[in-house]
Amino acid sequence: MVSVDIHTPLMYVKGVGPARAEMLAAKGLATVEDLVAYAPFRYEDRSNVKTIEQLAPGEMATVIAEVRTARVAGFQRRALGMFEATFRDRSPAILLGKWFHGAYLANVLVPGLRVALYGKVELDSYSGELSMLHPEFEILTDDEDGDSPLHTGRVTPIYEAAGKVTTRLFRVLANRILETLDPLPDPLPKAILDRLKLPDYWTAACQIHFPPADSDLRLLNGFRSPAQFRMIFEEFFWLECGLALKKSKARQIPGIAFQLTDRVRERIKTMLPFRPTPAQKRVLGEIAVDMASPHPMNRLLQGDVGSGKTLVAAEAAIIAIENHCQVAVLAPTEILASQHYYYFKNLFQKLGYVTALLVGSQSQREKVQIKKLLAEGLVHVAVGTHALLEEDVGFKRLGLAIVDEQHRFGVMQRLRFMQKGAQPDVLVMTATPIPRTLALTIYGDLEVSVIDQLPPGRRPIVTKHVTEDRIEQVWSSLKREIDAGRQAYVVYPVIEESETQAMKAAEKMHLHLKDVVFPGYRVGLLHGRLPADDKEAAMESFQRGETRILVSTTVIEVGVDVPNATVMVVEQAERFGLSQLHQLRGRVGRGPQQSYCVLVTGKMNDAARERIRTLVESGDGFYIAEMDLKLRGPGEFFGTRQAGLPALRIGNILRDQDVLELARSEAQAFIASSGSEEEMHRVVAYLKTHWQRRYGLVTVG
Ligand code: ADP
Ligand code: MG
Repeated sequence: MVSVDIHTPLMYVKGVGPARAEMLAAKGLATVEDLVAYAPFRYEDRSNVKTIEQLAPGEMATVIAEVRTARVAGFQRRALGMFEATFRDRSPAILLGKWFHGAYLANVLVPGLRVALYGKVELDSYSGELSMLHPEFEILTDDEDGDSPLHTGRVTPIYEAAGKVTTRLFRVLANRILETLDPLPDPLPKAILDRLKLPDYWTAACQIHFPPADSDLRLLNGFRSPAQFRMIFEEFFWLECGLALKKSKARQIPGIAFQLTDRVRERIKTMLPFRPTPAQKRVLGEIAVDMASPHPMNRLLQGDVGSGKTLVAAEAAIIAIENHCQVAVLAPTEILASQHYYYFKNLFQKLGYVTALLVGSQSQREKVQIKKLLAEGLVHVAVGTHALLEEDVGFKRLGLAIVDEQHRFGVMQRLRFMQKGAQPDVLVMTATPIPRTLALTIYGDLEVSVIDQLPPGRRPIVTKHVTEDRIEQVWSSLKREIDAGRQAYVVYPVIEESETQAMKAAEKMHLHLKDVVFPGYRVGLLHGRLPADDKEAAMESFQRGETRILVSTTVIEVGVDVPNATVMVVEQAERFGLSQLHQLRGRVGRGPQQSYCVLVTGKMNDAARERIRTLVESGDGFYIAEMDLKLRGPGEFFGTRQAGLPALRIGNILRDQDVLELARSEAQAFIASSGSEEEMHRVVAYLKTHWQRRYGLVTVG
């Protein structure tokens, strides 16, 4: 190791080499800097290890002991064997370790070996001895370094292994690197360090790997030691600085300053079919201020299903149109696009606006015609799917882009849309309430408005859980609702691999309900594979109230609005995600009648049971989204790729929400106040070299 600095590839660090470097790279660890930032996920106090004699059943404990006996019991040949070893230290007691399917350990834990064991202490029901089931263990004599004081006799870091790079080797490498490197300067602004009393970077980096002797183990394992706190804070701080810069840069781009004249107000009044709720009014106010400013709006409109986002979007559209601009409304599916199309057309007819629909399944001739009208400025509102984003779609003067159900669109598509106009204002609507932590990260460059109130007269939906063997009861209560003049949805889940399966199930149920259960009633069918005309016909017939029961795959998941529908039956509900179920439920409860959601399930695992219980107990979209995030983890929350979640090293947006909030307000204050040009250049340069790629802050600086 001639000269190591933070940019040195790990391959050149003593003890790594090409094979291990590859294993480390697979974990995203490429340079010395990456390894310095690689935080242990847990710590053990091996400074004051208990003897076996001192162990009490029920506690989590570390012991350091020697393997005395080892054997494989049971069906050895089928590799099902239970591996049992006994351990002894200087106390007279004996500890038993047990591993199911542990035959492979016979060559690892050989008698005479010294190990650290960590696990839950129990009393073995057979022998009455102290035991641990599947304890974690670490062999304490290492051919590379001997039994150095890195591994025992201290608060010891435990790392997630990377291939054959064990926790033990990580300890050796971290120690070697920290001892070789010169202390690194602190990138955080000094004023913030002082005010928040954070340890400096180098101290924190060293203590993360090797906590001082008097460390509080509970704080450490809760990721709240001063060193951990500082590193988490720093990670969020730069992320939020990047977002704040992106935002302030966007604020300097020239856009359209819409005029809010009396005529605009008068036209909005004419259009409104209801009196807006106070929440709708407030949110429109926020949007109007953005639209009047001479820079492009970038606003996220959040609101639980049925809170009336579309009405607010229509009001915003009027502002644009009365300022001689066109409006584009982008929806994720054709069904939702046509829903919006009818909704807007209906509202805008009396104002004399022209609304047009553009979707992939229209005939070539139709599309050419509509594109021509759009380019000539003869269409005021264009509603459509991805078809609206195609290159040959041009507007005469696009002033406002409304994007519904944001989570289905990638960031790139949002950008594409923005390029269609001379910097149009963008309003993103989402009915999937985004937990606050995500709103602070993924959507951190958007302003957020929240409609936190439902239109008046809504009654909470009654949600019930029924097992599939009692489906006949569901049909008979459904019949009562239908006879009272209401309508119902029966939905089958579509999970990616099973679209055909769900479609078949829906088709089968459609026949069954139509011919056997509800003869004499009109039962419709809707799924993704139907020709566009059939889909539209099925939807329209349901909208008009002719079809009483609509059997469907999840194509109706978003945006469908039929206030007379009061029953939502979800089949195989155990297969849906929480947010998806909440969305589906939001299709009912849109009128003054009491509505019901029935979740029909087959066999369930614990996670499914938890999801169903959450839904039965709560109707609050934000609570449900938080639960969803907790149960599934951030990566899966929006579907993996589109999530655009920053790859955090030590921060965890669930665990560290408080640190995230702090970092955000510090970052915003810092970016806003940082007077000197020089300081700002330094920050931008630092972000560029260190964080841009990881955080996808493409347009910083
Ligand atoms: P979201 O898109 O937020 O799920 P919608 O905009 O589709 O909700 O509105 C849900 C239903 O509530 C629609 O039928 C809509 O016409 C109705 N609605 C919206 N705003 C109001 C209001 N202020 N008063 C009464 N009904 C309203
Ligand atoms: Mg909607």
